[in-house]
Amino acid sequence: MIVLKFGGTSVGDSQRVRSAAEIALLQPKPRVVVVSAATGVTNALLDAARAAARGDVAKRREAVALIHDRHAEILGGIGNDAFCQAAASVVEGLHAALDAALDEVAAAGALSERLSDRIVATGEKCLATMMSATINDMGHAATPVFADTVIATDGRHGSARPDRTLTRQHAEQVIRPLLDAGQTVVATGFIGFGPDGATTTLGRGGSDYSATLLGAALDADEVQIWTDVPGVLSADPRKVPAARVVPELGFDEAQELAHFGAKVLHPRTIRPAVARNIPVRILSTFAPEEPGTVVTQESTGTRVKAVTALRGLIVLTVDVPELEDLAPAASAVFRVLDEQHVEIVTVSQASSRRRMTFLVDAVMGGCTQLQHRIEEALGDRVEVHVSCSEHVAAVAAVGAGVAGEPTALSTMLSTLHRAGVAVLATTQQTSNVAMLVVIPDDAADRAVAALHDRMVRPQHATHRSRRRRSALMAESLRVG
Ligand code: ADP
Ligand code: ASP
Ligand code: MG
Repeated sequence: MIVLKFGGTSVGDSQRVRSAAEIALLQPKPRVVVVSAATGVTNALLDAARAAARGDVAKRREAVALIHDRHAEILGGIGNDAFCQAAASVVEGLHAALDAALDEVAAAGALSERLSDRIVATGEKCLATMMSATINDMGHAATPVFADTVIATDGRHGSARPDRTLTRQHAEQVIRPLLDAGQTVVATGFIGFGPDGATTTLGRGGSDYSATLLGAALDADEVQIWTDVPGVLSADPRKVPAARVVPELGFDEAQELAHFGAKVLHPRTIRPAVARNIPVRILSTFAPEEPGTVVTQESTGTRVKAVTALRGLIVLTVDVPELEDLAPAASAVFRVLDEQHVEIVTVSQASSRRRMTFLVDAVMGGCTQLQHRIEEALGDRVEVHVSCSEHVAAVAAVGAGVAGEPTALSTMLSTLHRAGVAVLATTQQTSNVAMLVVIPDDAADRAVAALHDRMVRPQHATHRSRRRRSALMAESLRVG
């Protein structure tokens, strides 16, 4: 069984939806297609919701019109009248529900996370409906499934955590019978349902995660992430034009890349695949014949394969002068981070001042809020000094074995030094597959470019010249 996920640009208009359907139909059955909203629609839904909350009627109308237009154009690509009409009436119903939810937001004068999730789900629901109708139009049986009946999550709206056991049960009940009946299932990415049945979302870019969650729930043979780049590249191609496709990645390596900011994969995508050992392939809808990147349990090579940056982080430093205060202080900080739903990127502890350093995701209220909460939680019980800096980035050089390479960190540091990038902290864990430096946010692009140039690009050149040499050799053998 294959799961194919198509991202926003890959389903951005009627022609792209058709091309995506063609790609899906080339795969043997059973197959599940997971779709994102058409590009720009999720942002427009959020714009409409925020406009409704502040009573900005014109902005709300403008955002809703963009969504309607985008969907009308995709519906226009469905040739068969009956299929087109059936899909159009579902889409109209979803648009009407969107209006009702926006009215609720306007009446409350505020946008709750719960309503926000219900509103943004419209994009994926409309697309699944229209993709399914497009497949019907191409002569194949397909059924849309809204994942807020399948992917069970906790109630953390906006960034919900899935319950994989429950999801497996629901997938067996809802999706399996459709597959057994020969249907291509077209499921919404991004969304799930919470303990109270309300629609939840898995965080921005979450459709990748939906694909591996459904793949794991249905014991898929492979999950394919179809996107607008020809695989996972050695750096973000928008920042580093010389970036090249990385043909193979281990689960660990892909997980580190996704965790440290490679947007091509949602940070949590790989976890469900690891749990069931399912290969994940990243492919381009613009160049479907390209081999892309395959992510499996095995990782090959000992060099840096890719460089990535995670921006907008906060470094929180907690100095604890007395040894006996260390555990209570650590426990208080972790509790606050948990209560505030702050994602922890790294934690380290060192120095005679028993300094703990937490690299965390930016939070509402930033340092002021975080520092205040921690000091409040610690009270007068323990003596600590908390300091906090915003606007930092983590830059990761990823490749299995690289962290165990004695000279790799010094190469990384000297490269950054030459590029004039100040390094605030570093980590090199020998058991890990990434080396990490913490730097000022505004130096992130420069750091990634310099590290790519020094640590990854020479390998591309070596591969190229090796290929050229063997081509010349083959040629001379033929001639000779
Ligand atoms: P989709 O809508 O298909 O989910 P995304 O925009 O979420 O696509 O992710 C693909 C984008 O990720 C690419 O267009 C690219 O700009 C960006 N990206 C960042 N880092 C990488 C990387 N290392 N390899 C490939 N793409 C990357
Ligand atoms: N449509 C959602 C977003 O824009 C989910 C996704 O694209 O994966 O975040
Ligand atoms: Mg994405």
